[in-house]
Amino acid sequence: MKTKRSKWDPNSIRAVSLMYFMVFAAVILLMVWFMQSFFMNTYYERMMAQEAQTTANKLGNYYSTNKDNFDAYARKAADRNGLYIRLETADSTSEYGNSGLSQGDIPHYQFEISDAKDKLAKSSLGKISLTVTEKGNKASRLVYATYLGNRDDGNILYMIAPLYPVESTISILRSQLLYITFITLMIASMLAIIMSTWLSLPIASITKSAVQLSNGNYNVNFNGGIFTETNELARTLNKASYEMQKTDSYQRDLIANVSHDLKTPLTMIKSYAEMINDISGDNPEKRAEHLAVIIAEADRLNKLVSDMLSASRLQSNSAELNMTKFDIVKAATEVEETFEVLNQQEGYNISFNKCKTAYVYGDYDKLKQVMANLISNAIKYCGKDKYVRIELKKVGRNVRFDVIDHGDGIAAEEISHVWERYYRTSANRNRNIEGTGLGLSIVKGILSLHNANYGVESEEGKGSDFWFELATVKK
Ligand code: ADP
Repeated sequence: MKTKRSKWDPNSIRAVSLMYFMVFAAVILLMVWFMQSFFMNTYYERMMAQEAQTTANKLGNYYSTNKDNFDAYARKAADRNGLYIRLETADSTSEYGNSGLSQGDIPHYQFEISDAKDKLAKSSLGKISLTVTEKGNKASRLVYATYLGNRDDGNILYMIAPLYPVESTISILRSQLLYITFITLMIASMLAIIMSTWLSLPIASITKSAVQLSNGNYNVNFNGGIFTETNELARTLNKASYEMQKTDSYQRDLIANVSHDLKTPLTMIKSYAEMINDISGDNPEKRAEHLAVIIAEADRLNKLVSDMLSASRLQSNSAELNMTKFDIVKAATEVEETFEVLNQQEGYNISFNKCKTAYVYGDYDKLKQVMANLISNAIKYCGKDKYVRIELKKVGRNVRFDVIDHGDGIAAEEISHVWERYYRTSANRNRNIEGTGLGLSIVKGILSLHNANYGVESEEGKGSDFWFELATVKK
């Protein structure tokens, strides 16, 4: 499978993020355009009215406290805001303001000023402010008039402020907005491209590795890029591929082991059967000896096959427990007795330390299988002293089962793996000890079904202690 990158895919991360960024930019720009077109004038009007009011207050202050600065301030304010300012006193009239107001305009204001003067005379507040809108012209003006100082002195300050933005201001803003629109769209699309590349790169790389993995290459490495989520995904996939690799190699080992383990007893059975046929058929003693070998080998085969069955049942969760209340001390004694013969015939030193009784609720046969597996492992892997100690004692409300040997133990880095299916420690694989690596995984499966605690303490070269604990119940 090849990932096609050249073709434009509307569902790709790149296309979708580009679309969203564009929509986002467009909405913002539309809002700005809308505000500018519909609210600019109202806003401008309000701001100008406020500004005019402030200027008028300041002029009033200057006039009463700091007359020298009045002139300069009035001129500056008029220039800056396009105001027309007029100060009438008993003996003089001064006018300020030229921007936007040509001389020709002044007679026009004459009317407004006399109108304002009338209204001011009638007003009890000592100041007035009017908004005048000319007919046929949307632009309006603020006309403001106030007495400076005492009303009877007749000093009046007039101020006329345009309440509409100057045309040039609007066109400057418009062209600025055009630039902003262009730049925003550019930035949005660049961001979208960068974002989507960042996002899609790790995904594309993970997909590529996954394709390799699906082709059976377990050595691939998944790389998650800079995002937490993709990193998490990559980490999980790395773990999955490691597990797959492990299972695969265990399975390969298993096939090798099982075929070896099946072949040895089968060869033995065949050759002993032939021997009986050819040689010992008539000799009852020899025949019995040879038949015993055949039976022992058949038992071994049987055990191997039933181990494989148990393991696969436990693995597929189809194993069912047959729960009863029973004395685990009695069950353990039965198991231990089957190994006694080794004490006598093969020089083993198997001891059993037990408490009197300990009732547990569990599957009688399966728990016996657990104990048998642990004991037979200890016997298989015990040291030269052939020492195996079995203990069954009460610990608080639990009963604890231990099998201790003085064998080679298990290396620290392998200890957590011994419970896995088909796992055999490298030392034992090399020593050619018979086994499938299934025993402990069966133990683990059964103990987990019983919610029991279990574990192993082991030191390389010193030996191991495999144990489990079950809750006791009343008899
Ligand atoms: P096997 O059929 O190989 O014994 P198990 O599942 O019973 O399979 O055990 C898994 C591996 O754990 C064994 O191959 C062995 O390497 C290690 N092991 C189990 N019991 C002991 C022990 N008592 N001492 C040392 N190693 C052990």
